[in-house]
Amino acid sequence: MREAAGGISEWARRVRELRDEQGYDILTHKDRADLKPGQYMLLTARRRAILDRTISKEIRARVLERNGFTCQACGAAAGDPDPFHPDRTIRLTIGHIVDFSKGGKSEFGNLRAECTNCNEGLQNTSLPKPSRIELFKQIRRATLDDQRVVLEWLERKFGGRSKS
Ligand SMILES: [Zn+2]
Repeated sequence: MREAAGGISEWARRVRELRDEQGYDILTHKDRADLKPGQYMLLTARRRAILDRTISKEIRARVLERNGFTCQACGAAAGDPDPFHPDRTIRLTIGHIVDFSKGGKSEFGNLRAECTNCNEGLQNTSLPKPSRIELFKQIRRATLDDQRVVLEWLERKFGGRSKS
């Protein structure tokens, strides 16, 4: 493997990339006494939410604001109850639109708000967005209370523009 990676330093660099940029949980001899230098252990095939290191706070804030602090995969908003963790609320992170592994860049246009569940692949995020008709059907048969909450949310979101 070392030879295939073009020498030990290249190999170590690639492992660092996989760990720090792509979020794989890779341990080295610095993390575990039973690993020798040059030995690595992949803890789980699931990737961590990446990025805090590679995306500036400013870009994160702009992406979250552009996406209305809403997961662009499942629609959950920051503060909603978390279906996978009953003891906490939805937390948002930043994900790639074109995946990092497919060459997607960590830049404003390729980033979007994602809840940590979607980002970690806990739910099927490839579901299509509801069509306008499906959306209206859901809203029309919702309770008046819920319709009012939707109205208030829309008014907050569009702030008076709808009155023109
Ligand atoms: Zn989500």
